[in-house]
Amino acid sequence: MSAQIIDGSAIAKRLRQEVAEKVKARRLSPGLAVILVGENPASQVYVNNKTRACEEAGMKSWTHTLPADTTQQQLLELIAKLNDDKAVHGILVQLPLPSQIDTQTIISAVDPTKDVDGFHPVNAGRLSLGLPTFISCTPQGCMILIREVKKDLSGKKALVLGRSNIVGKPVAQLLLQADCTVTIAHSKTQNIAEECRSADILVAAIGKPEFVKGDWIKPGAIVIDVGINRVEDKARGKPRLVGDVACLEASKNAAAITPVPGGVGPMTIACLLRNTMQAAMQIASN
Ligand code: NAP
Repeated sequence: MSAQIIDGSAIAKRLRQEVAEKVKARRLSPGLAVILVGENPASQVYVNNKTRACEEAGMKSWTHTLPADTTQQQLLELIAKLNDDKAVHGILVQLPLPSQIDTQTIISAVDPTKDVDGFHPVNAGRLSLGLPTFISCTPQGCMILIREVKKDLSGKKALVLGRSNIVGKPVAQLLLQADCTVTIAHSKTQNIAEECRSADILVAAIGKPEFVKGDWIKPGAIVIDVGINRVEDKARGKPRLVGDVACLEASKNAAAITPVPGGVGPMTIACLLRNTMQAAMQIASN
């Protein structure tokens, strides 16, 4: 058996087009403010991609680039200004932040109605209660990709590898809401291979290159690989990106699998646009 490759790039493109059409039809003018602190090259690439995607979808975007030695107070003052700015519907603080800044304090300072990343404790709490909220972009993207392959997930065994607040925990909540029986594995979990072998749906988000081996995959499973890892490739003479799953091996057992790159990554930006549009629609309806 060779797995269906779930084409995240194509699905994300379709989603971005749907958002652009809705923005136009409803004459919305959503605005996203992105804050970037410091000069992390990967973060700069992500931010550029996000602002370009906003513009293509007919949205406004503003990037606030702050120096690496920005104080927590300076960042809080900028967030307070953006919270009060009526043209700004969504605020995104690009993580990671420099060490002098407490990430949780910053996340908690964003107005929950503008928290398009869904990281604010209010929105994380609403998600766990099953109430309407901004669903974090990467977990939302994972669920859309799973549902491309299988609509009804009821009773399926799902394993989430990783328990971070931004990926693992919210993905697990969404799978639970979809009536899966959910297990969350992490660095202290015993016998991860055995846990994987019983999963109908496997979401890997641990940041370890090709950690999940092909023979850990249950035949017929859906595999969503969130990991983005840069590894040396001597043959190419430059680094390449791989996921948390050994994709080639895993494809022999899985029914469907996301590639890296071109799987979950593009969905994150598409879902960010969707959340920003949703924020603008909520404000327009008040
Ligand atoms: P993170 O905050 O570093 O969390 C990693 C999680 O993996 C932790 O819960 C950790 O367990 C667990 N873990 C680490 N080593 C493990 C091991 N050997 N066995 C089992 N569990 C292990 O990472 P994250 O922010 O969730 O990101 C995870 C990956 O997804 C990264 O590669 C990241 O680049 C990628 N990512 C991609 C997107 C996208 O748009 N595609 C978005 C976000 C993240 P403990 O809690 O016990 O330490």
